Amino acid sequence: MKSEEVLAQLKRRFPNEPEYHQAVHEVLESIEEVYNQHPEFEKANLIERLCIPDRMFSFRVTWVDDKGQVHTNMGYRVQHCNVIGPYKGGIRFHASLTPSILKFLAFEQTFKNSLTTLPMGGGKGGSDFSPKGKSSAEIMRFCQAFVTELWRHIGPDTDVPAGDIGVGGREIGYMFGMYRKLTREFTGTFTGKGLTFGGSLIRPEATGYGNVYFLLEMLKTSNIDIKGKKCLVSGSGNVAQYTCEKLIELGAIPVSLSDSDGYIYDENGITMEKLEYVKELKELYRGRIKEYADTYGCKYVPNARPWAEKADIALPSATQNELNGEDAKKLVANGVIAVSEGANMPSTPEAIEVFQSAKILYAPGKAANAGGVSVSGLEMTQNSERISWSTEEVDNRLKSIMKNIHENCVKYGTQPDGYVNYVKGANIAGFMKVAKAMMAQGIV
Ligand code: NDP
Repeated sequence: MKSEEVLAQLKRRFPNEPEYHQAVHEVLESIEEVYNQHPEFEKANLIERLCIPDRMFSFRVTWVDDKGQVHTNMGYRVQHCNVIGPYKGGIRFHASLTPSILKFLAFEQTFKNSLTTLPMGGGKGGSDFSPKGKSSAEIMRFCQAFVTELWRHIGPDTDVPAGDIGVGGREIGYMFGMYRKLTREFTGTFTGKGLTFGGSLIRPEATGYGNVYFLLEMLKTSNIDIKGKKCLVSGSGNVAQYTCEKLIELGAIPVSLSDSDGYIYDENGITMEKLEYVKELKELYRGRIKEYADTYGCKYVPNARPWAEKADIALPSATQNELNGEDAKKLVANGVIAVSEGANMPSTPEAIEVFQSAKILYAPGKAANAGGVSVSGLEMTQNSERISWSTEEVDNRLKSIMKNIHENCVKYGTQPDGYVNYVKGANIAGFMKVAKAMMAQGIV
């Protein structure tokens, strides 16, 4: 396999899908050497079979707003690969959503889920519906309309969706309710459910907490204590909030948050009390992060991201390609020692190059944010067994999964000079498990 040739062919077959090409490129580049040590993989054309999703559904979603006006949006589900378990991956509601973004997310999800050690395949779905400014009744009608199309394609052993950008506990509740009504069954087909109807403790916290657990493992390799470290966090949704929570708990100092309008920089540090304000602002009032600056009198920069601010650690937790090569240079020049990604593919290839050349600790989202889907996997187990585990039990399992993922990255990503290339480590570890399962199951 020559990664450049495979990529060129994919670009010809699927033009105008830049995010998908970007994600495939990163994986192919890092697995090329290992792949070519297995001629049986090439004969079975594993690479094309792994780069192209099993199937992708697209459908029209029609819904009515509070004024009686009818709207249409596009809905999608990408079922990428189910060789090691049912398709599994979140649902994103965002105006900018395209099939390319969903294909990149489902592709990444396949390797991420493989890394978790749990039996889950990869998928992703969503809509170009924007939840911003919509009433709760409009959100409910949209979720119901979306599931009216989606429900035929999913199931507890087929495909299990969860949340992502624009889809949290409220939306999962509405989608699960409609799914239950249509199927007349109560199964664990969605994860991220409310605690009173099959949800798992620690699921809302899992991605943010898991990212910090992964960061701790990375810091340990360099004997660095997280206490007192200033951390730049982007985003202000689910992942950003629980990243901050765990950082504060461990004595680190988160100093920034952002949304699509701008970022706040609080040099005194975001405390638990201020974080509670953010949670209410975002989950209850659905407000903008600027209001934090108005309330606490700190710096607010519109239409910008926090990467030029001085800090020790960066945890991008908003969206893809939110940190470019120039941002990365500023972070490194300001003395950042570690970057751990809560979001999926937040750093551009140029930014990754800067981090790795500077030999700072850098963890890709595929490894660092796998805690979310891991606890989703644990929610599926609890649902199948019709039991629920305690907070401590789930949190301990999450910690041990993140530790395990870190060990695998070190195993496959350590360079001759001792530097750990976490991108390579995560890609090879994730790929090898899927590849072996594909070989064992024949040409299907
Ligand atoms: P939320 O919807 O809860 O929050 C997303 C945050 O990112 C918001 O602050 C939002 O601001 C900001 N954001 C979204 N899109 C953009 C954009 N195009 N430009 C600038 N800011 C943007 O989502 P999550 O916290 O759940 O997800 C954040 C990231 O983490 C995503 O990359 C997601 O794929 C990834 N992830 C999430 C997991 C989960 O369990 N939820 C699991 C693993 C990864 P605004 O409100 O202004 O749009």
